[in-house]
Order: sequence, then C-alpha cells, then structure tokens
Amino acid sequence: MSLRHGRPYLAIPGPSVMPDRVLQAMQQPAPNIYGGALQDMVETIVPDLKRVARTRHNVAIYTCNGHGGWEAAVANTLAPGDKALLLATGRFGHGWAEIAGRMGVEVEILDFGRAQPIDAARVAERLQAPDAQDFRAVMAVHVDTSTSLRSDIAAVRQAMNAAGHPGLLMVDCIASLGCDAFDMDGWGVDVMVTGSQKGLMTPPGLAFVFFSDRAAENRKRLSQVSYYWDWEPRAFPEEFYQYFGGTAPTHHLFALRAALDMLHDEGLEQVLSRHAHLARAIWAAMDRWGACGPMRLNVADPAHRSHAVTAAQLGAPHGTALRDWLTEKAGVTLGIGLGMAPPGDPAWHGFFRIGHMGHVNAHMVLGVLGTVEAGLNALDIPHGTGALEAAAAVIAEG
Ligand SMILES: *Cc1c(COP(=O)(O)O)cnc(C)c1O
Repeated sequence: MSLRHGRPYLAIPGPSVMPDRVLQAMQQPAPNIYGGALQDMVETIVPDLKRVARTRHNVAIYTCNGHGGWEAAVANTLAPGDKALLLATGRFGHGWAEIAGRMGVEVEILDFGRAQPIDAARVAERLQAPDAQDFRAVMAVHVDTSTSLRSDIAAVRQAMNAAGHPGLLMVDCIASLGCDAFDMDGWGVDVMVTGSQKGLMTPPGLAFVFFSDRAAENRKRLSQVSYYWDWEPRAFPEEFYQYFGGTAPTHHLFALRAALDMLHDEGLEQVLSRHAHLARAIWAAMDRWGACGPMRLNVADPAHRSHAVTAAQLGAPHGTALRDWLTEKAGVTLGIGLGMAPPGDPAWHGFFRIGHMGHVNAHMVLGVLGTVEAGLNALDIPHGTGALEAAAAVIAEG
C-alpha cells in the first residue's frame, strides 16, 4: 500500500523546496514591464543579493540556470587561448571546466578526487611553478553538490597571495549560497556564480554573477564579450531592460523578492546556523545506520561537509532501491548519486544524496530520516540502530 499521498517532499539538492510565500508571490497577473512597481522592486533586489553574498561590489542577473551562470562568468573573464586552473572536488568542477573548455579556454584541472576538499598547500605548490603565472584565473567550487564536499575558499586566496599570483579567483556558490557561510569580499573572491533554485528558494531559471571591481577592470582586456552574457549592462543598466538583456523574468523576480524577504526576516546568521544544525542531525543518523551495515557518508571529516547537501553510499543496488521505495511509499524524493560511478555501470545504483538546502526545518529533516529508516527496514538493507534517536538528540540541542 502506498502512503505517499499528502504533500510531496523533494529532498534533493536543487531545485529545493519552494516556500508557500514564494509560490504565492508568483500568483499575480503580468505586470507592467515598462516601469513602476516592477522596476522599483528590482532596484531593491540588487542590494539584497549583495548582502547575501557579502559583497559591496557588483552583480549581474541572468535569465538562465546555473550552467548559464558558469558560461556568463567565463565570457566576462577569459578569452580563447587563455589558461585557467580549476580545482575539482566532484562532478560540478569538471562541468565548469568543460564549459570553459568549449569557450576556448585551456583549463588545467587540479583534481582532489571525490572524498577530499581542496588542499590549499597543493594549490600553492602548483601556483609557485614558473609557468603558473600564465593562469588568468583560478576556478573553484565552494560546495560540490555531487560529493557534498565543502572547500576552504579563503585558503585558496591565501595560496594565491603566497605565490604572488595575479589571477582572478572565481567561485561556484550555486549550492552553497544561503546555506554555508560565504564572504565574497572578506575572502578575496573576484567572481562568484550562483543560481536561484537552491539556497535562494526560488524556481530554477535565474543565475547571478557577482564580480569585483578588479574583475570589471580585467574584462576591459577582452576584445569581445557576447551580447547576452556581457555583465556590464546588467550590472550598470541605463535602461531597465538592460538588467536582463531583454524581457524581465517577471515572476521569478516576484519569487526572488519574497525569498530574500524570508532570508532577511529570519536573519542570514540564523539561516546559516539552522542549516548547520539540521546537517548535524542528518550526519548523526547516518553514522548510526553505518555502524552496522553498508551506509557511509561520502565525506569522512565533518569540517569538510556541506550544510546544504549530504552524499552517501549504500552499495548497489541499495541506493536506487531506497530512493525508489521512498518516492513510491513515502512521497519523498532523494537525490541520485552524481559522478560517483558512470551511468550504466551497476555501481551507479549504490549512491544517494539528501538535499537540505533552503526552506527546510527540523520536522522535514526528521521526516526524511524516519522514512529512510522505514525504507532500510522494508528493503532488508542492513543498518545500525538508534539513528532516529541520535538525530532527535541533535535537534533537541539548544
Ligand atoms: C546545481 C549546481 C550547478 C548547476 O546548476 P544548474 O542550474 O543545474 O545549471 C552547478 N554547480 C553546483 C555546485 C550546483 O550545485
């Protein structure tokens, strides 16, 4: 018998849960796009986005998903033939490298594998080599959603400084912004890319590229930047439509305004500590399940785990079996494993991820964990006991 009828829960690492307040903000007729309230609203969105990113610099808004944001960031910083160093900790790092490569950038990948964060000492070592001054940029992913690894971005900047490296530091915060602490100006980040559908609780379809004045200066050396991806008119528009390179994505903007209000009402510090607290509850449960059976957290050291997503392995075919059981029986959808085994390989079925980014609270996390426990029991997947008690104990901490 299925028990899934009721409110479904998409517990995947993006798109994340859309709050009712965000959905309701979208329930309105097409607004006047020539001026008035919409224009005034966009002018309030820009400073609020910068507040979340902790920057006094610039932001360009694009009507696209994160992949478009990746492309926009590269289009304004790197020219065909330029060299860049990409620090990979999972599938998304490789994805960004692929996009830059297709744009003619010569990307060297420094790969830290799928279980360890960026090692700043190795970055420093690579940047001290004589040929390293050729890198125009160092690109990194703050939280790689495929592995759930979180890397120390400030340490990457320190490694660049120690090597006297003049390149731009470019960071993908698509999974992390609004979930894991990030400080663009404090950490010396030149370019940061994010999207609407993760910590920002808005439907997929908006991307944001934040850029420092130094990055804006660097852009001037490029002989051309394509019309649509050019960040200049979007960040410094003379006409309202220039914000978007065309028609404003009206309803996404209504949604985003509501989501930013929610972040503001709760308080960014509180939002971040809520994510940290809920993440610890999930890890506590997983540690207990794994004490007796095949469940393993992908990232051994809690200091390197994201607060937005948790990747785990269960062994094939248990990962897929558990996900299917939760969808069909419990109305909960868990994330697939990404980049841990090639699609088509039986090992692909050994992984799953839990998204806990954005509009997520204690009862949602305990609900997911409770249904995972039920699924492990129903499917006879060996697991340790006491997981739910352990999670509840973490939730109960002050
Ligand atoms: C989700 C995600 C992306 C890709 O975003 P899309 O909107 O799916 O294009 C890139 N990087 C990271 C770290 C992500 O979490």
